[in-house]
Amino acid sequence: MSNQFLGYFSDASQTKPEFDPVIEGTPCPVCLRPLARPVVTVSLMGVGSSKSYFFRAHKACWNETPDAEKERIEHSIIDGTTP
Ligand SMILES: [Zn+2]
Repeated sequence: MSNQFLGYFSDASQTKPEFDPVIEGTPCPVCLRPLARPVVTVSLMGVGSSKSYFFRAHKACWNETPDAEKERIEHSIIDGTTP
């Protein structure tokens, strides 16, 4: 459960992520090209621990991705595989 896409908070009380992937050089999980602003931050819920995870994608990519595909991408990121 850790890969280049995922940032996380270890605790709900944290105001800054324990791990925050840099935008520059991290690939967008939708198109796999390097991220560039504007980006969206997507939180992953219900992963089953006190940690909360998030990843980023190009805003345009994410907005154009159908819900079913978003779900598939989220699951593959949780599973630690490349989308
Ligand atoms: Zn993209």
